[in-house]
Amino acid sequence: RITPLRKPEWIRVKVPSGETWQHVTAILERRSLHTVCDEARCPNKGECWGAGTATFMILGDTCTRKCRFCAVATAKTGQPVLPEEAEQLALAVQELGLKYAVLTSVDRDDLADRGAHHFACCIRAIKDLNPAVRVEVLIPDFVEGEIEAVLEARPDVVAHNIETVRSLQQVRDRRASYEKSLHTLYLAKQGGISVTKSSMLLGLGEQVDEVLSAMDDLRSVGVDVLVLGQYLQPGPKQLPVVAYIHPDQFREYARIGREKGFSTVVASPFARTSYHAQEAWHDGTGG
Ligand code: SF4
Ligand code: SF4
Repeated sequence: RITPLRKPEWIRVKVPSGETWQHVTAILERRSLHTVCDEARCPNKGECWGAGTATFMILGDTCTRKCRFCAVATAKTGQPVLPEEAEQLALAVQELGLKYAVLTSVDRDDLADRGAHHFACCIRAIKDLNPAVRVEVLIPDFVEGEIEAVLEARPDVVAHNIETVRSLQQVRDRRASYEKSLHTLYLAKQGGISVTKSSMLLGLGEQVDEVLSAMDDLRSVGVDVLVLGQYLQPGPKQLPVVAYIHPDQFREYARIGREKGFSTVVASPFARTSYHAQEAWHDGTGG
């Protein structure tokens, strides 16, 4: 039996509360929309929902993969794709008054196109109804042909996570790989996306030099924005935390990342791909 590590004092989750938070909850429930904030038990929900923002999770709340750090429900087959989800999303973005919308999804290996066309429909629906809104997509493993379908809908930012360093990729589902993820980011950049982004969760047992090598690998495929956050075990079924990384070490990673050429590095214990995404986009574009 492994004794869990004690949480250090810098790991303090804000409890969701307040009227804005209730407003966001009501809109999402009424429109039957899922969020990764809930499904992945993100520690920032109090802060993000309190500020009136959320990250939508399309294509159902059940993933066909099983990563050992992730709290999202898994099964061999996901839920039916609901074409009306695109319109509901666009309306929710309008109601929430978002200027910047972030979309992600579960992996849908059970669908012929892995859900790429539905992704594209959702981006288009949001942009058609809300022309000024920027859309960031955090995409799952798509293969060539599928990524292009998503890019044709002109998302403003494409994110895809390598999740951890090369030597620890076994914490991801066996169908995922470091090389596949780097290739996905490469294809997004080649496809004309001006800002690409990737995240890693730290504290899974990685060494500092491995994080620095991963930074080099991400820069080699043109990634602009790097996000580094602390892995927090979401429940007893997921991997335990190996180390709590000190905030000073996050600051050091951020400094090194900027030196290596990332336009933005978001590095702090609670940083997640969609955390303060709008500000990261501004920094990444100089906009
Ligand atoms: Fe949701 Fe992203 Fe905020 Fe987490 S960081 S609560 S996933 S918007
Ligand atoms: Fe979670 Fe892995 Fe599925 Fe992503 S692919 S939702 S990390 S189980």
